[in-house]
Amino acid sequence: MSNPTAAAPADPIPECPYCQKPMPLCICDSVTPIKNRLSLLILQHPQEQDRALGTARLLAKHFEGATLRVGLSWPSLSKALAQPIENASHWAVLYLGSAHAADLEAEGEILALNRKGEVADNQRALLGKLEGVVLLDGTWSQAKALWWRNPWMLKCQRVILNPAAPSRYGRLRKEPRKDGLSTIEAAATILSVLEKRPDIAETLNASFERMLTRYREVQVEMPELAPKPPVKDRRRGVRRSKRA
Ligand SMILES: [Zn+2]
Repeated sequence: MSNPTAAAPADPIPECPYCQKPMPLCICDSVTPIKNRLSLLILQHPQEQDRALGTARLLAKHFEGATLRVGLSWPSLSKALAQPIENASHWAVLYLGSAHAADLEAEGEILALNRKGEVADNQRALLGKLEGVVLLDGTWSQAKALWWRNPWMLKCQRVILNPAAPSRYGRLRKEPRKDGLSTIEAAATILSVLEKRPDIAETLNASFERMLTRYREVQVEMPELAPKPPVKDRRRGVRRSKRA
C-alpha cells in the first residue's frame, strides 16, 4: 500500500462471510427478502468451487427459510432439512435427466414426471400439492453424484424445467445444468410458476443480473478475481428453442 510499484503480493482480498465471494464481487447488500410459500433446500456439492459465479448462497439469502447444505449425502430429506418431513412426495426435486423428446412439446415451464421419467398425466394435482423444492448445486457431474448418493430423492416428486428463455450466464460460464440454467434461475422459474408469483422470478433474476454485472466490472479492474472462462466451455442452450 505504501509503495504501489512494488511487485509484492497484495493483501488477501476479504471474502463476504455470507456469499463467500471476494468482497468486490459481493452484492449481498442489495438482496431484498422474498416472502413465499414453498420451502427451499439447496444441496451443494463440496467441490463446487465456483465462488465467483456460484449462485446458491445468493439464492438462499433471499429466503429466510431456505436451507443450504454442503455435502455429498444425507440419510433422508428430514435429516437434510433437520426437521421432520412426513411426505417426501410433497417435495419436488429438479431432475437431471431429460424427458422424452416428444414430451417437451408439453405445455408449461415446469413438468412433473412419473416414475418412468415420462411427463405425468395429472400435472395439476402433482404440482399443486408441493410444499418444497430440492435443488442440486454444482456442475453437471457433481449434481449427478448428489442425485445417486441420495436415494431418498426417488421419493420426491421429480420435475423438469422447460425454460422459455436461455440462461443469463450467456458466455460467462459453462452451463451447470443440461437445461442451461444457474441454480438461482432454476429456483426463479420453479417458485414463480408453482406459486404463480412472477415477482419472485423478477427479484431473483434481477439479483442474478446484478451479480453478473458486478462480475463483468471486476473483470476489467481485477481480472484475477473474475477470470474469463476458456472458450471451449461456451455452449448455448438451444435444445428447447422449438416450443410452439
Ligand atoms: Zn456477500
